[in-house]
Amino acid sequence: MASTSDSALAARAKYEPVIGLEVHVQLLTESKIFCSCSTRFGDPPNTNVCPVCLGLPGALPVLNRKAVEFAVLASLALNCRINETSIFARKNYFYPDLPKGYQISQYDKPLAEFGHIDSKVDGGTKRIRITRVHLEEDAGKSLHEGFPDAGEKTAIDLNRSGVPLIEIVSEPDISSPNEAYDYLTRLREIILYTGVSDCNMEEGSLRCDANVSVRPRGRNKFGTKTEVKNVNSFRFIREALEYEIARQVEVIEAGGAISQETRLYNANEGRTYGMRSKEHAHDYRYFPEPDLLPLVVDETWKTQIARQLPEMPEARRSRMVSAFGITEKDALVLTTSRARADRFEEAARAAKNPKRVANLVQSELMGRLKAKGLELEDSPISMRGVAMSADLVESGIISGKILKDLYDQSFERNQDFPEIYEKENPQQISDSSAIEKIVDEVLAANPKQLEQYRAGKTTMMGFFVGQVMKLSKGQANPKLVNELLARKLR
Ligand SMILES: [Zn+2]
Repeated sequence: MASTSDSALAARAKYEPVIGLEVHVQLLTESKIFCSCSTRFGDPPNTNVCPVCLGLPGALPVLNRKAVEFAVLASLALNCRINETSIFARKNYFYPDLPKGYQISQYDKPLAEFGHIDSKVDGGTKRIRITRVHLEEDAGKSLHEGFPDAGEKTAIDLNRSGVPLIEIVSEPDISSPNEAYDYLTRLREIILYTGVSDCNMEEGSLRCDANVSVRPRGRNKFGTKTEVKNVNSFRFIREALEYEIARQVEVIEAGGAISQETRLYNANEGRTYGMRSKEHAHDYRYFPEPDLLPLVVDETWKTQIARQLPEMPEARRSRMVSAFGITEKDALVLTTSRARADRFEEAARAAKNPKRVANLVQSELMGRLKAKGLELEDSPISMRGVAMSADLVESGIISGKILKDLYDQSFERNQDFPEIYEKENPQQISDSSAIEKIVDEVLAANPKQLEQYRAGKTTMMGFFVGQVMKLSKGQANPKLVNELLARKLR
């Protein structure tokens, strides 16, 4: 199955994947969507429950205003149109972790529609349309492991029952696993900027299901889709899609047919397994929830909520590129979270040369962080430290070489740059007679290179500068070194 032989690749090229994503995001409210129980993660099982979220007969839901505000905020950030009136509906199905026998969701009149995310893959921009954003409650959690009788029984934790979610449904506009990955990255970034969710995949605050089908290139009609469910990282979603696309192509090429079903991805084996045949909407017997009034978000309320919208990542990137003269790539790295972008901007504004700050973050900081498996947020060198170091180099007080050494020491000792700088107090040699001595030594020791330089190979200049810096242990003032060398070689 799903081999990558030449013939399989050739077959794959004949088909075009069609992918749509459904993302569930948990809203960061303190209480649940229809009752006042706490939403705290990690509490002992079944301690945050009441008649409403246990689904006891006669208990009535009361809508959480904050959940609506968060959902509207997220929808606006995703460029959606907010429907003034939306309707809650019952989605009926039986499952042990759903005590009411139905989930309160929204169906034909969702909170928001017609949004989009601009995804940037392979240098181009592609607009992925968002069909809808709707509000719903989460179900409980079935626990199959860690109990003495787990072999025969399933344990249920209903703390999660009634936790507010938004479901963000995309149009099937995504045509490769890479695009899916980028869409999810952008979506997560946008939601994080709004602050309505922590999007923590390990704790289930962001979950993604992918609908995927393939069709011969150039054909309009969709193929039969499968749904890949409950994959717990973006990387695994990309892998699951790769696998699923190859599998479908192989089935079709062999003369078979794809059956519409839900499939689970096994990350250890890198493959998907069929689980059950997929329900159709009519199986859920949706009908309007009689215990809740239509949800009305009027113009005034919407405007109030819209005022809380922060600058979105894409807009922020463009602004940073023009304000600080940094590259698109710099901006992409520096804006992945609002906190990170805030910190960078603070440093960039404080520093003499913002571009140098961005360069230092990219070249000196990121590499060292990556080697240690750290995020920028955990860096021993703060943005204030980066700004200070940038200024020291900018004004010629320390050389690039000394900066590198000081960064190394910061990482070794886990201390911020200003502390290390104060302790080390590196002295730069700005005494021209001392540097002149080194320059003479270097020229005397490299007659061959000197000859080449005099014969017209002016690029040798870089070599001489390097040698002088090396001999001075990186302490010679680079500007003086260049001046003195130029004078000697004239
Ligand atoms: Zn409750």
